[in-house]
Amino acid sequence: MVFDFHTHTYWSDGVLSPVEQARRALMNGYRAIGLTDHVGIGNVEHLITQFKREREIVERYWDITVVVGVELTHVPAAGIAEAAKSARDAGAEIVVLHGETPVEPVEPGSDAAAIDSGYVDVIGHPGHITEDEVRRAIQNDVFLEVSARGGHCLTNGHVAALGQRLGAKLIVNSDAHSPSDLLKPDFQRSVALGAGIEHGLLTSVLEDWPQELLQRCLARREG
Ligand SMILES: [Zn+2]
Ligand SMILES: [Zn+2]
Repeated sequence: MVFDFHTHTYWSDGVLSPVEQARRALMNGYRAIGLTDHVGIGNVEHLITQFKREREIVERYWDITVVVGVELTHVPAAGIAEAAKSARDAGAEIVVLHGETPVEPVEPGSDAAAIDSGYVDVIGHPGHITEDEVRRAIQNDVFLEVSARGGHCLTNGHVAALGQRLGAKLIVNSDAHSPSDLLKPDFQRSVALGAGIEHGLLTSVLEDWPQELLQRCLARREG
């Protein structure tokens, strides 16, 4: 079973509709999928409303859980807390930060701002995250992503090594933008092992922590 909390649809720069994304994910062995299109601060209400309409029909007929959310992308670091809060207020069940990937000019300080905001659940592709930031992520119960996406994955080894040494909660997401990017169980496991995650931690990374994150998101849905 795959848990994947970071994917894109045609509502930003992905190619699939939310419904088709859910269908293909289900066929790949997903238990849950997060829809997290790129946002700044505008138009979040519209995105979440559309996701919820599509999620309703998907979950009514198919055995997959769809988490609706956003990926805060290239928001000024000093504005991340405000943008994250407004996304949550708009009904986002998960807030992912487009973290400091080595392949894009994300503003330095973005990872730290998100970790300290109290409204961000996952630092996507955290890049060269520091030891102090990882410690704060642990304190604030923020998940750190190991990315299956080309380019963003270049710092997976750093994230996994630091995360494991300090005791952070690591998860593996696809950051899918097209059907072929969606994970399958063996490939997700391979990405985790390739990042240097120890065999003994695989169940935590691929099952226990994703379940914990999913429960957090579902609690927001009900509340
Ligand atoms: Zn994108
Ligand atoms: Zn993304």
